[in-house]
Amino acid sequence: MPYEFKIEKTQHPKPKPDPDTLKFGKAFTDHMFIMDYAEGEGWHDGRIVPYAPLSLDPAAAVLHYGQAMFEGLKAYRTPSGKIQLFRPYKNAERVRATNERMCMPDVEPELFVGAIKALVSVERDWIPTKPGTSLYIRPFIYADEAFLGVHAAHHYKFVIICSPTGPYYDTPGGQLSATSIFVEENYVRAVKGGTGFAKVGGNYAASLKAQAEAAAKGCEQVLWTDAIEHRYVEEIGTSNAFFVIGGEVITAPLLGTILPGVTRASVIELLKKWGVPVSERRLLVEDAVTAAKEGRLDEVFASGTAAVISPVGRLVFKDDSLTVGDGGVGRLARRLYDELYGIQTGGKPDELGWTVEVN
Ligand SMILES: *Cc1c(COP(=O)(O)O)cnc(C)c1O
Repeated sequence: MPYEFKIEKTQHPKPKPDPDTLKFGKAFTDHMFIMDYAEGEGWHDGRIVPYAPLSLDPAAAVLHYGQAMFEGLKAYRTPSGKIQLFRPYKNAERVRATNERMCMPDVEPELFVGAIKALVSVERDWIPTKPGTSLYIRPFIYADEAFLGVHAAHHYKFVIICSPTGPYYDTPGGQLSATSIFVEENYVRAVKGGTGFAKVGGNYAASLKAQAEAAAKGCEQVLWTDAIEHRYVEEIGTSNAFFVIGGEVITAPLLGTILPGVTRASVIELLKKWGVPVSERRLLVEDAVTAAKEGRLDEVFASGTAAVISPVGRLVFKDDSLTVGDGGVGRLARRLYDELYGIQTGGKPDELGWTVEVN
């Protein structure tokens, strides 16, 4: 049975932001979704209410021990005016894995996707239509029980907010542009047995210091290496990493430290469909560096919901600054971006059945 949610419409609709100057995650829509969880009662009282600050007891567990998770996906308006989501059931699957790791209550995929559809439907006029724009959807769950003991909470809130966003790249027309990455050999993002595969804020908090130091060295992103030896490539910033060496596309396997990106899975499926060799295997930083020095590192790119595909033009390893490919946007990165973006926004046929319509 589909979930039903109470809807309370705002009395004070906000003006919509200028679609020409939309940034990522700055403007928020008129409403939000909220649902409560109590042990013994389960998830209950799902509702769409006017967007407003949340109130929180100062002793709420999330503020002290960080029991919280989040998700991220987008709603797009197609040229024919339809509203669609990109593979939301993949996010729903990931919620289950994250919540299980964080000792947080399970959310059924039909509840997760149903809540998103209900909110996006109410906020349909907030989905920008200009090319490169979309409605970013941010579901999150946190422990709101007031207690200072360290154990899994008995009360949680599931909230969804939406933010109209512009193109990821601050270039004319939002076209793809190549970034630079710094090979991190000191700080650690995730270790096997930890929470690297879970989408949790703590992973991000722990990554800020490395990001700041990479920025100080003139790089836009950190290339995370494995926590034990710092020799294998893992992720790029908060995105999945792909390396193209001698025609083979290589990405780190999902062994507990890698966030299983929806975009990552889609890239792999598309490459297989196109007959491009793709391997989920460990790749040594030194092999990528040698390939770069010998002119065989054809491409490096990152994948994630925000940017879709983010090409890398420069790799900084110790004191070496190495050029990837010709330093610009690679051929596969461009092709993958065009295909994924086309399917997401309805400009290309969805042959793999990835999109889900919102009525
Ligand atoms: C969200 C995220 C990604 C990308 O996942 P998508 O589902 O493709 O958006 C990759 N790495 C990390 C660490 C993430 O948090």
